[in-house]
Amino acid sequence: KLQVACLVISRISAFSLYPVMIAVFLSKCRATTSFLSKSHLSVYLMQDNHELHEYAGRYIAIDVWIHTFFHLLRWGLQGNIQLLWTHKTGLSGLIVVAVTPIITVLMISDKCKRRIKYEIRKGLHYLFYAFAVGMCFHAPTSGIPNGGFIAPVLGFCIALYTLDALYVYVFMTEKIDTTIFHVLPSGVEMTMAVSESFQKRMNKGGIAYVCLPWVSKTQWHAFSLFEDPRNNRKKQVFMLKTGDWTTAVHDALQRKTVRPMWISGPFISPFNAAVLYDNQILVASGIGITPALSVINAHKELRRVNLIWVCRDAAMLEFYIEHMIVNSDGWNLIFYTGKKSLDPAVDGMNTNVCILKGRPDLEAVIPNIIY
Ligand SMILES: Cc1cc2nc3c(=O)[nH]c(=O)nc-3n(C[C@H](O)[C@H](O)[C@H](O)COP(=O)(O)OP(=O)(O)OC[C@H]3O[C@@H](n4cnc5c(N)ncnc54)[C@H](O)[C@@H]3O)c2cc1C
Repeated sequence: KLQVACLVISRISAFSLYPVMIAVFLSKCRATTSFLSKSHLSVYLMQDNHELHEYAGRYIAIDVWIHTFFHLLRWGLQGNIQLLWTHKTGLSGLIVVAVTPIITVLMISDKCKRRIKYEIRKGLHYLFYAFAVGMCFHAPTSGIPNGGFIAPVLGFCIALYTLDALYVYVFMTEKIDTTIFHVLPSGVEMTMAVSESFQKRMNKGGIAYVCLPWVSKTQWHAFSLFEDPRNNRKKQVFMLKTGDWTTAVHDALQRKTVRPMWISGPFISPFNAAVLYDNQILVASGIGITPALSVINAHKELRRVNLIWVCRDAAMLEFYIEHMIVNSDGWNLIFYTGKKSLDPAVDGMNTNVCILKGRPDLEAVIPNIIY
């Protein structure tokens, strides 16, 4: 009876892995999801693919152990534990179980995030290829239709993911010959004239990955895109100085340069879902203003867009005010929490941008905007 119970649990845990494994791979097929977001299928898709990826990753991290435990318990009860190292199923399972914590825990655990550099964790995350290949050999296809679907299903997912990544690299990545950098104490704004095809793929908002080969040839970093208010055909990103790469960029820009950069994208971001709402209240803090600006720019004509922005960086605030006098219908409430005094021209502005000192009481501010 115990053996039957073990078999049932290991089978249920195996079958429940199918949808999440498909989700974990498809949520990172960036070209495919960008393409699907323009089709009617988008009404069935999740708005935040990264959230789906995280959820699926956590599920896999736990489920793999449940499956392994009950599988091994059954083999142990049968006196077949040697199958773990003598049979394809055992060996492939062993590989999967060994790499799963490296792929998942390093990305989930706050302790690991603090102690291990992002680049190392990201590099180790690519062990998902070993995970997928191991899985493909785990159950023989001869078991179909009673099982054994994993090789075709995961084989398809990993092939699609690889082709998608290649497509992004070859067809969605371009060189910007001349980039205009605007250096602030806390970060850098980059303005770039992207190609027509880049514009066509998504003319407003989204995110892009940026590589500055004169800082690092291998590092690509994600940033939210917004449109240059003076010329909507140009894209801008604002890069806050937070870690080693962003600090290296900031340092390199202490001397004037217009050197080339590479940009990959644009990809959809959760902010693209703003189109689904007539009345919007965007709440941003610090650098979160960039996707919010893009939403305002995209929807200010036909929707009511309100903004609540909490910012403690005087230079960033003064810089963004220039980009912000675009939202005429809604409220633009900026809560300045910094210590440095603001430029009087910005502080005393007589527009629909209202600068307040101190933190907002969101429970009072949001209902007041609604009513
Ligand atoms: C979808 C998305 C949009 C973003 N938009 C902006 C933006 O508009 N402006 C902005 O200033 N920042 C943005 N970021 C954050 C930006 O990518 C990181 O601040 C930057 O990559 C940090 O790199 P670093 O090496 O200097 O810092 P590190 O010290 O290496 O990392 C600091 C933190 O940034 C994250 N990070 C590091 N490298 C990457 C990477 N290649 N991709 C994603 N996250 C990484 C890690 O979680 C890490 O904990 C965005 C991130 C994502 C995922």
